[in-house]
Amino acid sequence: MLLTITYQGWPATDLGYLLHKNPQRVQTFSLSYGEAHVFYPEVSEERCTAALVLDIDPVGLVRGRKKGANEGFTMEQYVNDRPYVASSFLSVAIARVFGTALAGRSKERPGLVEQKLPLEAHLSVIPCRGGEQMLRRLFEPLGYELEMEAGLLDDQFPDWGISPYYSVTIRGDVRLKDLLSHLYVLIPVLDNEKHYWVGEDELKKLLRHGEEWLSEHPERELIATRYLKYRRKLARTAMERLMDQETAVTGEEEQKEEQEAGIEKPLSLNEQRLQAVSRTLIGSGATRILDLGCGEGKLIRLLMKERQVKEIVGMDVSARALMIAQERLHLDCLSSAQAERVQLIQGSLLYRDERLSGFEAAAMVEVIEHLEPNRLKSFERVLFEFAKPGTVVLTTPNVEYNAKFENLRAGKFRHSDHRFEWTRLQFQEWANRVADEHGYSVSFAPIGPVDEQVGPPTQMAVFTQIS
Ligand code: SAH
Repeated sequence: MLLTITYQGWPATDLGYLLHKNPQRVQTFSLSYGEAHVFYPEVSEERCTAALVLDIDPVGLVRGRKKGANEGFTMEQYVNDRPYVASSFLSVAIARVFGTALAGRSKERPGLVEQKLPLEAHLSVIPCRGGEQMLRRLFEPLGYELEMEAGLLDDQFPDWGISPYYSVTIRGDVRLKDLLSHLYVLIPVLDNEKHYWVGEDELKKLLRHGEEWLSEHPERELIATRYLKYRRKLARTAMERLMDQETAVTGEEEQKEEQEAGIEKPLSLNEQRLQAVSRTLIGSGATRILDLGCGEGKLIRLLMKERQVKEIVGMDVSARALMIAQERLHLDCLSSAQAERVQLIQGSLLYRDERLSGFEAAAMVEVIEHLEPNRLKSFERVLFEFAKPGTVVLTTPNVEYNAKFENLRAGKFRHSDHRFEWTRLQFQEWANRVADEHGYSVSFAPIGPVDEQVGPPTQMAVFTQIS
């Protein structure tokens, strides 16, 4: 799957600064469902084109699949159009790879961010339920000119008619961040199929990326309904929020504040990690969550802000850490309803513990590397055989990345209490084995900036119980 973005301003090479991607380099990003490559097939002062190629791994997709999604004939899991067409996978890649541009930030060319520029985007293949008409209804109100091409389903059999796949170019004078947010929202709307669970989180994404244009779009209802994949209640909430000026204004202010804070202080790795874990837990739909090795309670604090979460139990072996958590979370001063949602318990992950049974999800953030390697087997049974939560979200350092930390001496771990640190391969081998042995499927995602050679600083595995 190929998306290209072309800029024809002067000098056109500014596109590199706007996208935060150097035109001289080919860069690869690993995503949970494959790889994204960025390179520039065309670079001159008059015309500059950036290409985003998605290399989706169909086998990886099946492995990481949630239960219940296993519909269709068996081969269809492996042989389908997903690797070849623009879909919500592309939206995820846009957010990951061009996230800074999507948020409207550029250190080198801040002035250009707010300017309308002559831009063109080309999608090599996009499935479009509703054909040419639908493409026009979605893109023309946003001020784009369209060029579309639909091929025959099969050249040998013209009677079969045209295929539902289009090759599309959109052209207009727009801000780059608008172009990216239009694509981010409208690609899954055209494809009309989403690869991940649609919930509150998706609603937030739609509102965030559609904030500046969706309420004015004549097809906003269709967009919201399709984006939220026919979840009528969510779609209705989206409409209400878009329409309700008051909520929209306060929402906007909040987001602006957040964005500004973001500019001043880039998210620390620790914060990125906690947010990624929290998003994944919320995305799993869990309402009762364990935080194993909760330390001073940073993840608990994030989860307490989520209305979906009804109960959090934080466990740690260290009484001192639990005391600090108790204080930082102000558990003694909260209203009883709030305080009842959180419970802190002392215990060890190396011993079977009844109190850990019956949870929908468990987080284990930067804890496994504190366990003795020869005790890992006991821990695996405690968590995956006895506690058996529906989802386990587990993070650990990627030792390959240590070479990038300037003040870490070669061969040293990041923390004196770490008993080991794994490479990506070691972590994946461990996680795949544990998943196989205990009836879980597992998928992996990077956290933090992904380096071409050594990968991300933190690695995350998401285990989902196969019923
Ligand atoms: N998850 C927290 C803390 C990570 S530090 C965060 O992200 O901020 C690792 C934590 O694991 C420490 O608080 C330590 O006390 C705890 N820990 C280490 N061994 C443990 C064990 N066997 N059982 C439970 N917790 C343990």
